[in-house]
Amino acid sequence: MSNQLSDRINSLVPSATLAMAAKARELRAEGKDIIGLSLGEPDFNTPDFIKEAAKQAIDENYNSYTPVDGYVELKEAIITKFKRDNGLSYEPSQIVVSTGAKQALYNVAQACLNPGDEVILPCPYWVSYADIVKLTGGMPVEVPTSIESDFKMTPAQLEDAITPKTKMLWYSSPCNPSGSIYSKEELRALADVLQIHPQIIVVSDEIYEHINYGVVDHASMASFEDMYDRTVTVNGVAKAFAMTGWRIGYIGAPSYIARACNKLQGQVTSGANCIAQRAVITALTESPERVRYMVNEFENRRKLILDLLNDIDGFACNEPQGAFYVFPDIASYFGKELNGVQINNASDFAMYLLEHANVATVTGDAFGNGKCIRISYAASTDEIKSAVARIKEAVS
Ligand SMILES: *Cc1c(COP(=O)(O)O)cnc(C)c1O
Repeated sequence: MSNQLSDRINSLVPSATLAMAAKARELRAEGKDIIGLSLGEPDFNTPDFIKEAAKQAIDENYNSYTPVDGYVELKEAIITKFKRDNGLSYEPSQIVVSTGAKQALYNVAQACLNPGDEVILPCPYWVSYADIVKLTGGMPVEVPTSIESDFKMTPAQLEDAITPKTKMLWYSSPCNPSGSIYSKEELRALADVLQIHPQIIVVSDEIYEHINYGVVDHASMASFEDMYDRTVTVNGVAKAFAMTGWRIGYIGAPSYIARACNKLQGQVTSGANCIAQRAVITALTESPERVRYMVNEFENRRKLILDLLNDIDGFACNEPQGAFYVFPDIASYFGKELNGVQINNASDFAMYLLEHANVATVTGDAFGNGKCIRISYAASTDEIKSAVARIKEAVS
């Protein structure tokens, strides 16, 4: 009965990362020993000091609807965090708390885009950007990058992609899936291009800001005075605090955009979960040093997985500077047969790894790059070692 559904929903592609996780679960249920390196999810538990805050909130009867855009105390904690970590000054009217950074992004797209508006997405981009944009009738404009430019868009590429219809630029830094980080100088050079095109609004997704391995300092587009009034800074607690299931994200934005997101949420969700919001006040108020142990562990695993993957012929890896993914270019396998299976593209390769190595990864096609696959190293070192050994065996 899909003809009874809207054209919008029929043209929506299911999230490839969630689909791969579901497929892995299915194979596990059939008794297969699948190592899952497809989901972007820390394998740590939420830290105890945050769990305690949630328990206390339950006992203190935080059970009513919250303000649509978030508790006042949470917005204050977010304002303090933006100042402390990013040098950004926001008023409470510029902050909106949402059900995950994903909903924050959806709100912004709904608030800003008309059908036909173009949104520039440097590739590889986070899996949901293109479909969130398409749901509004907006048009994703993909700007390809490659391992040679460390998967970063150059100012000349940005200039070339801009048309009179360009309404927004969306990117994540540190980037999911490439792990690349735009330095302050690189962002400035992109901002210089945007200065000639004042109609363009920037969405800067900074959810991996704290998962940074120390080579390139995190920088925020909104920290440039001339970009502040046209940048939406998106962040959340899912990754840095191992709180994916708690579903809290937020924006700092020009107030007219924040007001629009607030209005939308008021009609669609009535706001984010009350207990999770209370817990996030504690998460953001404490020093980021309290969760540094997870970043240190990710850093060890990054080294491990890069060493192991670089030892496989046919895998070309950049050195990710943040987040917890590697994005190897595996195009050297295209046109070849592996164990009788013809590999023509990254999706074939990811499917081959799932079926012949019992390792779940995600095709780069889902991120707008058809030459790579994404491998998450938010997994134990034992899992990483076994997974890469299986991959090596399956492709040799
Ligand atoms: C995980 C992720 C999100 C979504 O975060 P939630 O708070 O879980 O909704 C947004 N952007 C990027 C780049 C991500 O990796």
